[in-house]
Amino acid sequence: MLDYFDMESTLSEEERMLVDSARSFIDGEVDDMGEHWIDGTFPTELISKMGEMGFYAPNLEGYGLPGVSERAYGLLMRELEACDSGLRSMASVQGALVMYPIHAFGSDEQKEKWLPKLGTGEAVGCFGLTEPEHGSNPSAMETRAERAGGHAADGDDYVLNGSKTWITNSPIADVAVVWAKDHTEDGTPVRGFLVETDRDGVTTNKIDEKLSLRASITGEISLQDVRLPAENRLPDVEGMKGPLSCLTQARYGIAWGAVGAAADCFEVARDYATDREQFGKPIGGFQMQQQKLAEMATQITLAQLLAHRLADLKEAGEMRPQHVSMAKRNNVRTARDQSRIAREMLGGNGITADYSPMRHMANMETVYTYEGTHDIHTLILGEDITGMQAYQ
Ligand SMILES: Cc1cc2nc3c(=O)[nH]c(=O)nc-3n(C[C@H](O)[C@H](O)[C@H](O)COP(=O)(O)OP(=O)(O)OC[C@H]3O[C@@H](n4cnc5c(N)ncnc54)[C@H](O)[C@@H]3O)c2cc1C
Repeated sequence: MLDYFDMESTLSEEERMLVDSARSFIDGEVDDMGEHWIDGTFPTELISKMGEMGFYAPNLEGYGLPGVSERAYGLLMRELEACDSGLRSMASVQGALVMYPIHAFGSDEQKEKWLPKLGTGEAVGCFGLTEPEHGSNPSAMETRAERAGGHAADGDDYVLNGSKTWITNSPIADVAVVWAKDHTEDGTPVRGFLVETDRDGVTTNKIDEKLSLRASITGEISLQDVRLPAENRLPDVEGMKGPLSCLTQARYGIAWGAVGAAADCFEVARDYATDREQFGKPIGGFQMQQQKLAEMATQITLAQLLAHRLADLKEAGEMRPQHVSMAKRNNVRTARDQSRIAREMLGGNGITADYSPMRHMANMETVYTYEGTHDIHTLILGEDITGMQAYQ
């Protein structure tokens, strides 16, 4: 993989081993993501295999989780997304959006019940924040939680009503982390609930005919008078900082993952340019193609350096959500732009699924949009830089 400034030499033994094992896993176990992408399927047989490999939340500790470095975790996301964004999304959702909130905000019972199973892939989780009418502004969510007894007495069941959409893995999930407003409390604070998907009143229809992130399962979560014991509420968080802190973890992984997708496009374009001959010589010998490769290598290297620095800040406990916004925003834009250039360099062959750039390019439309759109990250940075918010 492209490493122009020799960042691999700065990796620890553990980090290098994780990269190697992720690469051999992808080479040995992942058949053909191009075919899955065309069929609109996720290779579900990989869910438990990825669990066995320790790919879900490896940066967390306890409950059988290895507690690897934040850089190692980022490198893993990079390797998975070099294969396909669907693979990285599986690991991101399971690890950063489901296991992380249980680990950070859950009760001991919730942690013991779910973390080992989610870690091995025996159970699949999903994260329900987005609603049909509320995407970029999730704080306006309409999903409601009320105590069955109508008052805020501890121990009373909750009843949940509402609908979530664009939820990765909801159709195959065993448990959903659902964010809802608690209407039995003053100020209707946002709270997180662990909703088993086989409960009465829960349906999880699949969203078909996506033209992006096709090798990933996406669906809705409909909640109709879903009765939930009080112990299914995440006890240790209240308000939007609950879902937003999960998004910070997942966006960190995306900032790394985008480097993988872009680097894969670069490798494919470089190989193609060296092989493909026109006008009597390899197209890589023409200045215009070299310009494209030089720019691609430069932009990917900048994204890679940003990801490494982000890992340093995260390890030191100094990473702010705004740092993550800048890295997610920049690195996904880089992958989106450069995958298009790589596709272009492959000529007609570039529009087939035999080569990865167009698949990555289409995937990047989702990655550019989910976990905070490019515009929303621009506004987050704008507010941080000027002290003035411009969302509304
Ligand atoms: C394949 C896929 C998987 C997903 N997985 C999940 C998941 O697992 N869980 C989950 O909860 N969500 C998930 N999402 C949802 C995703 O996070 C949302 O799509 C995203 O937050 C954007 O919301 P929206 O689609 O409603 O767009 P909107 O919020 O309606 O935005 C539409 C456009 O308006 C722009 N815009 C919005 N507000 C402003 C503003 N104030 N200023 C300027 N421009 C603005 C946006 O940038 C965008 O370009 C997924 C989405 C996709 C496509």
